[in-house]
Amino acid sequence: MVDMRIEDARKMVIQASLTILQKGLIVGSWGNISLKIEKDCFAITPSGRNYDKMKLDDIVIINADGKKMMGERTPSSETKMHMAIYAANPRFKAIVHTHSTYATAVAAMRKPIPPLVEDMAHISGGMINVAPYAISGSEELAANAVAAMGDSNAVLLANHGAVSCGKTLEEALTVAELVEKSAQIYCITASMGGGFLLDEKNIKTIRNFYKDHYSKRQAGKEL
Ligand code: 13P
Ligand code: ZN
Repeated sequence: MVDMRIEDARKMVIQASLTILQKGLIVGSWGNISLKIEKDCFAITPSGRNYDKMKLDDIVIINADGKKMMGERTPSSETKMHMAIYAANPRFKAIVHTHSTYATAVAAMRKPIPPLVEDMAHISGGMINVAPYAISGSEELAANAVAAMGDSNAVLLANHGAVSCGKTLEEALTVAELVEKSAQIYCITASMGGGFLLDEKNIKTIRNFYKDHYSKRQAGKEL
């Protein structure tokens, strides 16, 4: 039974890896994806492996301390960050870390993505904050990402990329696309003199609607 769930999780992570590759959210082997199978069991992409050649056995199975339980490969070098985010946000079941172009451009400016559009307000509850710079793979980066993300589903990593989370892998993938789209809209509007921000009251209403209804409809759990 558990073996079946592990195989399914590995398949889902490979499929998601191909999706972020095809959508241009990553280049080469950078970025990583994890999926929570149960409380102390996660599937995560291997470190430094190209996504287009990945096989089931390449997806590493780890426990909540990041210790390898199954698989030959080295788990992602961002395992600490993934595990710290799951520990701080028990609602998340999946994390997608990308180096997508516009999100990384804004992260390199060390600026948050401001609340300019409705779909982003759904998933972020306002700004998508930027975590202070720390070297990739470090405990400091993990702590910075957790602190800067707060109640949101996403965070930028200064001079690095973006982290997107969800209650399902599908949701985390959608969040990753929305973060990139929001960063692109921010860059476009900034180049034309700056867009109008959504106001706090409307953002709260939009965010609550997403949490209570819209995300459930997307997951097929509400009519
Ligand atoms: P891994 O290949 O080890 O997952 O690392 C890529 C990356 O994005 C580091 O931040
Ligand atoms: Zn990275």
